[in-house]
Amino acid sequence: AGGRKTVSRAPAPLSFEEIGGQERAKQELIEALDFIVKPEEIIKFGIRPLKGILLTGPPGTGKTLLAKAAATYSDSVYVAASGSEFVEMYVGVGASRIRDLFNEARQKAQKSGKDSAVVFIDEIDVIGGKRDGGQHREYDQTLNQLLTEMDGIHTNDTPRVLLIAATNRKDTLDSALLRPGRFDRHISVDLPDKKGRSHILTIHARNKPLDDLVDLNKIAEESFNFSGAQLESVMNEAAIYAMREQSDIIGQRHLSMAIDKVMMGEKTDREASK
Ligand code: ATP
Repeated sequence: AGGRKTVSRAPAPLSFEEIGGQERAKQELIEALDFIVKPEEIIKFGIRPLKGILLTGPPGTGKTLLAKAAATYSDSVYVAASGSEFVEMYVGVGASRIRDLFNEARQKAQKSGKDSAVVFIDEIDVIGGKRDGGQHREYDQTLNQLLTEMDGIHTNDTPRVLLIAATNRKDTLDSALLRPGRFDRHISVDLPDKKGRSHILTIHARNKPLDDLVDLNKIAEESFNFSGAQLESVMNEAAIYAMREQSDIIGQRHLSMAIDKVMMGEKTDREASK
C-alpha cells in the first residue's frame, strides 16, 4: 500500500465571488472563518478554537468550491482528500493516511509562509460513519486518527489547521464527530433557488459568447431543482450545441435543448443504477 493517491491539487485561488447563490452558506462560512482570521479576539475572549466545519447538502451544490474559497479568504494553503481514499484493506493504513494529510497541510503552509491550512475531506461519511462495535475495525482506526488530529488543534498553533468536511449523509455520522470541539459548525448547502440558479448560470456564462437576447432568468425558471453542477453542464452543453451548428453565439434555444439533455442524462443515470 502506497501513500495517498492524488490528494493535494494546486488550484487557482477561488473566491466566494465565483460561487453562485448559497448566500446564507457563504455568510455563515465567512463568520466562522473570521475566528481564524482574527485569532487575537478569540484568545482575548477565551473562545474555544474552531476546529471543524461540516458542509452538508446534496451533490454538486458547491461544497468543494466553498472549501476552496474558505482557504483563499483565510489566506490558507489548501489540501484535499475524499473519504473513499482512506478505505483500505490493511488495518492502520487509513489512519496513517489521515496523519499524512494533516502533516502535508502543515508542511505546505510552512513552505509557503502561510499561518494556516485548510484540510478539506469530501465524503466524510465514508470514514466517519457510526461505529458499530467491531464490524468495521479498519474504519474505526481511521476515524479515531481523525478525532486525534482534531483534538490536537489549538488556537495558537502555527500553522493553524482548519478541517472542513462535506457530506450528503449527515445522519449517518458518528456522534463523536459532532461533539463540541469537533465539527462545531454545520452549514447546509442546499439546491439553489431561482435567484441562485440565475447567479450560477451568469457565472458559467462569463467566458462564453452568449446572445444578448438570452434571458438567464428564464433558463433559471426552466431548470427547477438543478444543482450548480448541473447548471454548469447546461452552459457547457449549450455551447456544444451552438458550436455544432456553427453558430457564433449561444442562443436561448441551445440553452433549452441543453436543459433537456441534462435532465435526460440524470434520468438515464438513475435508470442505469436501478
Ligand atoms: P459533491 O458532493 O458531489 O462533491 P459539491 O457540493 O462538492 O459536490 P462542487 O464540487 O463544489 O460540488 O461543484 C461541482 C461543480 O459544479 C463546480 O466545479 C462548479 O462548476 C459547479 N457548481 C456547483 N455549485 C456551484 C455554485 N454554487 N456556483 C457556481 N458553480 C457551481
